[in-house]
Amino acid sequence: MSSIPNIIIAVDGFSSTGKSTFAKLVAKEFGFLYLDSGAMYRGVTLAGLEAGVIANGVIDEEGLKGIIGPLDLHFRRDDGTTKLYWGERCIEAEIRGWEVSQYVSPVSAFPWVRNFVDNLLHAFARDGWVIMDGRDIGTTVFPQAELKIFMTADATVRAQRRYDELVAKGEQTTLEAVLENLQDRDYRDSHRPTSPLRQAPDAYVLDNTHMTLHEEVVWMLGLLQGKFGLLESPGLSW
Ligand code: C5P
Repeated sequence: MSSIPNIIIAVDGFSSTGKSTFAKLVAKEFGFLYLDSGAMYRGVTLAGLEAGVIANGVIDEEGLKGIIGPLDLHFRRDDGTTKLYWGERCIEAEIRGWEVSQYVSPVSAFPWVRNFVDNLLHAFARDGWVIMDGRDIGTTVFPQAELKIFMTADATVRAQRRYDELVAKGEQTTLEAVLENLQDRDYRDSHRPTSPLRQAPDAYVLDNTHMTLHEEVVWMLGLLQGKFGLLESPGLSW
């Protein structure tokens, strides 16, 4: 394929729309670095839980502020993808658990938590050539991103996909609880005062309710070719 310019791609959207699966695959197929901004918020939440400043449905804001300063969260390339580390510890699995998912939206609503994460994301994306997923990447973190995608899908379809994933990992939950959690996160993420989830006016909408992952990547290929004049198809590797 002709060369892809040194661009930043922002992928935002509702919970469990498959943003990270899509962004990881696009990164692999087209040679971008993948960065998962939600993982950072999940990492802060995990640290708060382990320090005991998040417990029994309560977030001790001052306690969380106390641990966030020296918190060493960073991404490492690992097995062809990027994984989140807390110091030397890979926390990719722990941050996807049910308890972290319960608290991550209120944690991410604190403006000082957002500021902490935004600074890290800017440092990681310094050299461009990045695809990053989240809720406010195209609106707040990188409003100048060259390409913005906004992902959405029917809530019941999203809940079923997420439920299947959790069950496959051995987590005990119900479809109703998963649907409730994602609707709650959608509501909180869209209604918080700082950097709410919004579709950027210049974002391309990807509704994958009735799409396969392969169709999504083909859609992306068309977009990259149309927007950046890429001449040949890379020949998808899967
Ligand atoms: O993407 P993921 O579902 O892992 O994100 C977890 C949570 O982190 C979201 O529900 C949202 O509350 C928060 N988040 C955010 N802004 C981002 C990415 C994630 O507020 N850019």
